[in-house]
Amino acid sequence: MSSWDKKILMIMGGLLVVFAVINFFHPQLQSDLKSESEIEIKLNDNKSDLVTEHEYIVPSKYNSIKLKTIEESDEELRYLLHVSWPVTENEIINKILETKAEEFISEYKQITSDIKTSRENFIKETGEDGATFHANYSMHFDIAFANEDYIAFVFNAYKNTGNTGTEEVTSLIFNRQTGEVIPIANLFASANYLIKLSELSREKLYKRLSEEAKTTHFDSEIEKETWLENFKKEMIDEGTEPEEKNFKGLVLNEEGNLEINFDRYQVAPGYWGLVKIEIPLSEIAELFVPEVRRLFNLEVKEEKIEREENKKSETTIVNKGNFEIDCEVEKCIALTFDDGPSIYTETLLETLKEKGAKATFFVLGVNARVQQQTLIDLKKAGMEIGNHTWSHKDLTKLSVEEVKGEINNAADLIESITGERPILVRPPYGAINGQVKAVANSPLILWSVDPEDWKFRNSEYVADYIINHAKAGAVILSHDIHETTVKAMPKVIDSLLSKGYKLVTVSELFGRENLVSGMTYTN
Ligand code: ZN
Repeated sequence: MSSWDKKILMIMGGLLVVFAVINFFHPQLQSDLKSESEIEIKLNDNKSDLVTEHEYIVPSKYNSIKLKTIEESDEELRYLLHVSWPVTENEIINKILETKAEEFISEYKQITSDIKTSRENFIKETGEDGATFHANYSMHFDIAFANEDYIAFVFNAYKNTGNTGTEEVTSLIFNRQTGEVIPIANLFASANYLIKLSELSREKLYKRLSEEAKTTHFDSEIEKETWLENFKKEMIDEGTEPEEKNFKGLVLNEEGNLEINFDRYQVAPGYWGLVKIEIPLSEIAELFVPEVRRLFNLEVKEEKIEREENKKSETTIVNKGNFEIDCEVEKCIALTFDDGPSIYTETLLETLKEKGAKATFFVLGVNARVQQQTLIDLKKAGMEIGNHTWSHKDLTKLSVEEVKGEINNAADLIESITGERPILVRPPYGAINGQVKAVANSPLILWSVDPEDWKFRNSEYVADYIINHAKAGAVILSHDIHETTVKAMPKVIDSLLSKGYKLVTVSELFGRENLVSGMTYTN
């Protein structure tokens, strides 16, 4: 090991904490992997264990990290983009993350331009429109672990065009001080670690495959054997060749496991989704450099106790909000902010507090996880927190299981942070169909005033639009991910209050007892 490696590991000190974050991405995976380990089973079957899984963030380590988000969509919801990436205190790291996001966005632009051309040609030739001409790209980053000197991200890139989708998971580790990227290989003691990981992966995946074979119909034993043989050779073996590119999604988690994340289609057909296997570090301790091994195990236990204590004090001060204002009598308006929390949310909260206004924040799971403290601050100030799903996918394009995952994983996380399960759901893009209504199991909150603040990045315009269109009972849509929107709010709030409106949460506006699961509400 080089002295540089040593230095990194020393810096990591007693604080190396690694978090099991991938689970929340993979509703499909969770159900697929039931047989893999006890942890998976707990995650699937027991909500309270899921909540425990969410208690992984050391707030002091995450407070300085904020998120930036870019979102694009068109009227028909054919072309949807949603990319968020973290901003740290280190400019070099920021540049690398931003470049990743930019590359993803420019690929999206290229793809949509190609699809638009194909669609035009198709319409010209057939006189009909095709339903498959659409694109949905989303990219989200998670923090896998962090301390003052060291930070690791896992990013998930989802691309859906026409009827096909891919999803990839990659991890990236930085020296938080210098901004240098640290190769994952530096955590391993032996250059042969890839060979070992390949063997272990195959063993686990073969096991899972034979489980699947038990519930698959075959006409004969020979047919079954052939199927197994081909699956192993063509999918599993190929996807787990001992090469770096096949093991780009490695994460160490706080249960003391090594998670290996495979992309959709990498080791199995698409219906397996993203595939994750977990291997207890104790079984492969010899693979890691001794410092990692020793420090990791010791510190995870201490951190856990500390966090549980923090958790208790946080949840007891949660303000449940009050319903003093009767919107049957008063002129009420609900301001709503989507897609956060973001780098601008705390500023907005200060404005709301200063002016005595309430609002509802429809947050994304992927963002809430990083900015947990912001959620706690919102809650304390009496703001309502609604569910804007886990990762902002168009729910009408997902399976029942995927819709459930998008909604429930976000709700579980929000509950674990604030102590209260969100009642309201706002579907991304306002995209709803019968399946979404049935599966959401929540009131679906749309809006009646939309200043299109994502398009008009002009505070003056956004403020004037809202002021001119707002009336009693209105639900106003805007986004706390745009600086221009947050800057528009002092004027909006002053104006509406001066006209005698009460600025309330969505639940206050409608009256909680009037909100029914599976129904949509706009004003
Ligand atoms: Zn949104």
